Amino acid sequence: MLIDTHAHIYDPQFDTEAMLTRAEAAQVSQIWMPNCARETVPGLMALAEQYPDRCLPMMGLHPAYVNADVEVELASVEDLLNRHAFMAVGEIGLDFYWDMTYVDQQFAAFDTQLRWASAQQLPVSMHTRSGHDRNAFAEAADMIEKLALPNLTGIFHCFVGTLDEARRAIDMGFKLGIGGVATFKNGRSGAPGLDKVLPHLGLEHIVLETDAPYLAPVPHRGKRNEPAYLRLIAQRIADLMHVSVDDVARHTTANAQALLPALYANLLPG
Ligand SMILES: [Zn+2]
Repeated sequence: MLIDTHAHIYDPQFDTEAMLTRAEAAQVSQIWMPNCARETVPGLMALAEQYPDRCLPMMGLHPAYVNADVEVELASVEDLLNRHAFMAVGEIGLDFYWDMTYVDQQFAAFDTQLRWASAQQLPVSMHTRSGHDRNAFAEAADMIEKLALPNLTGIFHCFVGTLDEARRAIDMGFKLGIGGVATFKNGRSGAPGLDKVLPHLGLEHIVLETDAPYLAPVPHRGKRNEPAYLRLIAQRIADLMHVSVDDVARHTTANAQALLPALYANLLPG
């Protein structure tokens, strides 16, 4: 049994039934859905209502979607967080890769949403993509350490950092979300390669994710990604860490379950 801790399965390019059937066949029993912005809310909520025990919703404003409408976007997130149950605040964070126009607003939105997560005792799913000669992981970690909010935990989604950065995330009480990049020969552009990092980490610090429809693992690299491919990622991690794929499944599922707020914790067999 595997948990995909980060997948945008409300993306319109999916035939939902077929995609979920393939996920089930691959023993992916639960899929966590990060929100991006107001435009993705209807699709996300529809899936969460239709498959309440399989497709778990997060709510948040994605940093790459922060623009001049940031106040309206955040008001929508806050309103939804107050009216519905969500398993996490996400995805939130810093994106220096695409566009630096609204970087100040990105920091403000990240700060605000971290505070909401802490106040509601929800974990966070964090996007930290570097670019323009700035390290998004380091700046996010600096901010979290400075804020020192109570009850704050979660996942550094799509972790591609160094061993030192992995240890810093772990020391801060966070899990590392490992996805298709682990199967790439050269990691992601500028990253050291997870093959140099994962062998030095314990399984207790890792959760699995696809980030579908993005970042498909080898041999599907460059194509549309989907939760059924999570098994390929689990196998790659098992190979890199010299453990069995069953060990990877058991640990990463337990790690993910431990992050779930009480309302969702009874969905899976203990
Ligand atoms: Zn994402």
